[in-house]
Amino acid sequence: MITKNKRSGKISAKPNEKFNMDAFTKKYNLKKKIPKKFWIGLFAIILLVIGAIVTIVVVSNLNASHDVPTDNTSSADNNEKPKEPKEKPSPEPEKTVSDDELSIQPITSISSSNPTIKYGRLMLINPNFMVDSNFIAARRTELISLSSTYGISELHSYNGDNLIEKEAGEKLNQMLADYTAAYPGHQIQTVSCFRSVGTSCGRLCMPTGASDHHTGLTCDLIDASYGDSLDTDTYDQHLDWQWLKANSYKYGFIDRFPLAWAGGSMAEPMNIDASGSTGLYETWHYRYVGVYAATQIATGVYNNGAYDSLEHYLLARGLVTDLVNGV
Ligand SMILES: [Zn+2]
Repeated sequence: MITKNKRSGKISAKPNEKFNMDAFTKKYNLKKKIPKKFWIGLFAIILLVIGAIVTIVVVSNLNASHDVPTDNTSSADNNEKPKEPKEKPSPEPEKTVSDDELSIQPITSISSSNPTIKYGRLMLINPNFMVDSNFIAARRTELISLSSTYGISELHSYNGDNLIEKEAGEKLNQMLADYTAAYPGHQIQTVSCFRSVGTSCGRLCMPTGASDHHTGLTCDLIDASYGDSLDTDTYDQHLDWQWLKANSYKYGFIDRFPLAWAGGSMAEPMNIDASGSTGLYETWHYRYVGVYAATQIATGVYNNGAYDSLEHYLLARGLVTDLVNGV
């Protein structure tokens, strides 16, 4: 029997009595208290909650999987973008500038009253810019032998053992090899490079201390097929003269005494005037000044496009101020 405690409101069934569910439900009107709509609504809410949880989980997973590459891409972009402009603007210094600086760097520690010695490969030695015997003797020790280093033979060995400054020797060797490659069977040889004393040769003699050959940067050159004499008026018709005149600057060598600066005649001794004329014409005499300066001289940067003289070039660049008085 089912009873309801009047004080506590508890419902209880006495043991030994058979429980009647229909009677229980009907008695307390349970079906009316929990209507069917309630269960449907509850079920719908549970479905909505489960659906929401599933949606959140799926969406968060999708976002996570998208975020990784997105973050990587964006971070890569962020890392790369600043790098690109860093890599691009790192221009190499102009090589022509450093070549120019190099060409006027001192290449000898030998002191001299000649102010141009400090210009290294642009040093000027002539009757107005002379050097003494101490310079000549010391300079000799700084040079290499073209004979033993490159196997270049000297036609007249009495002049000074075929010596030249190391860098000039490398370029000279390359230049002579390229000449032979251009004209198979022809070979340019040295006649005289460094000289310890002046020469006493005919109309082109130069006293000791005044010769460009004291620089250690100079060689007289001739194609051996034309003989071994430099003192000829037909030398400018030689193949070697034509080729050297057109190409030697590419190796850093200049035609040291071009005809245009000889003043129209061959003076004796050499006569340097204030403008840079030399009074000397030697188609065989080549002097190393470095590729930068040689190119400027050969293309006449300071001489309206015509071949310059070393004297005029140094004056135009302000490296000397008085060609007559050696300043
Ligand atoms: Zn010479």
